[in-house]
Amino acid sequence: MSAKVILKAKRAQPFFGRHPWVFAGAIERVEGAPADGAEVDLVSHGGNFVARGLFNSQSKIHVRLYSWEENVPLDEAFFRNRLATALRLRHDVLKLNGPDAGYRVCFSESDYLSGMVVDRYGDWLTVQFTALGIASRRETIVSALRELLNPKGIYLRTEKGVGKLEGVELHDQLLWGEPPPPDLSILENGMRFLVNLTEGQKTGYYLDQRDNRAAVARLAPGKRFLDAFCYSGGFGLHAARAGAAEVLCLDGSEPALELARRNAALNGLENVAFERVNVFNHLGTLATSGRKFDVVVLDPPKFARNRGAIPEALKGYRRLHQLALKLLAPDGVLVSCCCTGLITMLDLEEMLAQVAVEAKRDVQIVERRGPAPDHPVAVTCRESGYLKCLVSRVL
Ligand code: SAH
Repeated sequence: MSAKVILKAKRAQPFFGRHPWVFAGAIERVEGAPADGAEVDLVSHGGNFVARGLFNSQSKIHVRLYSWEENVPLDEAFFRNRLATALRLRHDVLKLNGPDAGYRVCFSESDYLSGMVVDRYGDWLTVQFTALGIASRRETIVSALRELLNPKGIYLRTEKGVGKLEGVELHDQLLWGEPPPPDLSILENGMRFLVNLTEGQKTGYYLDQRDNRAAVARLAPGKRFLDAFCYSGGFGLHAARAGAAEVLCLDGSEPALELARRNAALNGLENVAFERVNVFNHLGTLATSGRKFDVVVLDPPKFARNRGAIPEALKGYRRLHQLALKLLAPDGVLVSCCCTGLITMLDLEEMLAQVAVEAKRDVQIVERRGPAPDHPVAVTCRESGYLKCLVSRVL
């Protein structure tokens, strides 16, 4: 018999609705003294089975739910099956498989595997655990991934702060197989990008922008193109290859720019300039000097991790957009990316409207985009949607 977590009266509805996060406040009592990481049954106040999950008394999310079927153990077969289901989307539906492919294999709640992200970069995989229960099953996960994807190596990347939130000590390390070579690269839209999966940002590369880079590149031929927050050069290098007249890539991180320069060389692209700057300051400097661009991409990092930080985050987006409008020539294209999950598409559009009115510029949204489809959104956990990308014309 597994331990039972019994919900307070009238608190079961979100979990019958298959939302996977059970916060302490919804729980009436726990029966059977489960250890942190143990399997538990979630039960309604009236005694009905709701779902099965993994318990963690140290996390605000006391139970993460993985299965809504009764009597299904969360064992190796279960996780292998969940991963195989995630892979069918990438391989059979989206056709992302192939030599030197880069794609997200599994995206946590979006793939009904709360607390685990797996990316594939050619023959290597990176795994990121953000929950104790699934992190403590790493042997199981590694064995399932080996069986399903036959990689040369699997590397663990850790996110700062997870230890404290979940009570689990994790360190970046090789989990299995050979360490990744320093010149590991993937093919994206026919271009080659280096991926430093041991030291690069996040899990090594921003796979979520793959289709947005291709879409924006279509607008770039003959244009003056600014890629602000370029990381390893994703947007700017796509634009250069598409035939942009000039490309300026900006980032604050030297290792990121080093990767970007190497990526330019790897793809035989020469008309690209890179500058290490604070984008907030530098956009102002460019505007003061009278520089103009026809396409400006803004792809800043996440600005808010909790609700309290939203007003400050919106201020940051507002500031960036005010500066971008100053830099844009008439009929220019503004690409506004926002990976802050707590800021919605509506918030972003509202901010853009305010900035446009202030600047006395007419702005038309020509495309509302999201992440590439290997970053799906589970309809029962829409918090799993986070990336917005607005493409607008600025008159
Ligand atoms: N557009 C990129 C991803 C950008 S990630 C791509 O397509 O791959 C965000 C980037 O912003 C990171 O590379 C980080 O180094 C950079 N960054 C964060 N704050 C910054 C700042 N104030 N000025 C310049 N760069 C900054």
